[in-house]
Amino acid sequence: MLREPRFARHASIGFLLAFLCACSTKLAPLARPPLSLDAHAVLASASDSSDADLLVRSLSGEYSDLLDPAMFQRRIVRGRLLAPDRERWDGLHIFVRSAWRTDSARISSTGEFSVPLSDVTTDSADLLVRRANAKAPAYHTARIGVRMPNASVLTAIVLIPTQWTIRIGTHAGTTIRISPRAVTARGLDRSRFARFHRANENSPWKSVGWRAADFPLALAFARDSAGPQISPADSAALWRAVRLLEADLGAIYFRPAMLYEVIERDARVMVRIEPELHANGVTSVAWGPLSNLHGVELAFRSVRHLHDAGISMHELLHTLGFGHTSSWYSLMRASERRAARATPEDVAYVQMLLRLRQLEATSGVLHGLMAATAGVTEP
Ligand SMILES: [Zn+2]
Repeated sequence: MLREPRFARHASIGFLLAFLCACSTKLAPLARPPLSLDAHAVLASASDSSDADLLVRSLSGEYSDLLDPAMFQRRIVRGRLLAPDRERWDGLHIFVRSAWRTDSARISSTGEFSVPLSDVTTDSADLLVRRANAKAPAYHTARIGVRMPNASVLTAIVLIPTQWTIRIGTHAGTTIRISPRAVTARGLDRSRFARFHRANENSPWKSVGWRAADFPLALAFARDSAGPQISPADSAALWRAVRLLEADLGAIYFRPAMLYEVIERDARVMVRIEPELHANGVTSVAWGPLSNLHGVELAFRSVRHLHDAGISMHELLHTLGFGHTSSWYSLMRASERRAARATPEDVAYVQMLLRLRQLEATSGVLHGLMAATAGVTEP
């Protein structure tokens, strides 16, 4: 069930979604994600003597008229790797695995690679990245399309780490195994933990979230003179929940603001009391065609619920752009049987996804988080 926040009706909002918590209301389903990546890597023809040349020569008998030698030109998979947990790639190797052959190369310190393909017939390949002699891969395998020849551009490819060590916050030092499918899987209420949007069928999926420049988000209470009064003690209770969540996440994401200030801002968070609400808390989020959040409204059924840190922190994670999940024990379960505060898994996934979104926004990634998570195969 969609819920349109009052202030949103007056804004130029592209997309709206409400998280209705502790109830069984359905969310509006997003379009299906792509099942695999397509044409991620850039191809080039190589002029060196190759297996492809040998193959063409070996087939040069009575069938030669049927064969276009261009089909068997050796191709090169080129690209630039990005990952949320790494800036330097020294000592790492990339393996490009097709149905028949696996080729490998060193990765440059800045993440660039160039791998000539032995298999000239394949139209997709798996990328694996690992340190020499390491048993476990550092990243989930990314499946890429290798059909479109275009030697002029280095395509950025986002890799998803197989594990995430929490560096800051309450759970610092804890390492969590990362499952890309857990991030994109729909929970019982059809919600995903990470949200995605694309402007049209031909544009890449982009994760929905705030721009880095929007943090800390200006948060204000909408005090309706005719409605329930929000006392200083009530607002202080919500701010305690804000700081508790931020302590768990290891960063400051919100700052207090006056109502007149947030009304004039593009990026704003408003909190109001709505006695007629049929859930304890409802968060309505709005984003534009570029998948940037620009308006969030948190509604609580009564001021009493502002004093429930569990409800507040759950709604605040919605405010940061995250949906419900059934994939791990979480503060973000849709039902009442949820964790009382952010679990180590919540923190690891939030930290990783916020960093991924930053990469997506700043590095010109053509195929961002959605493609990366949809295209990976679990090791
Ligand atoms: Zn919720």
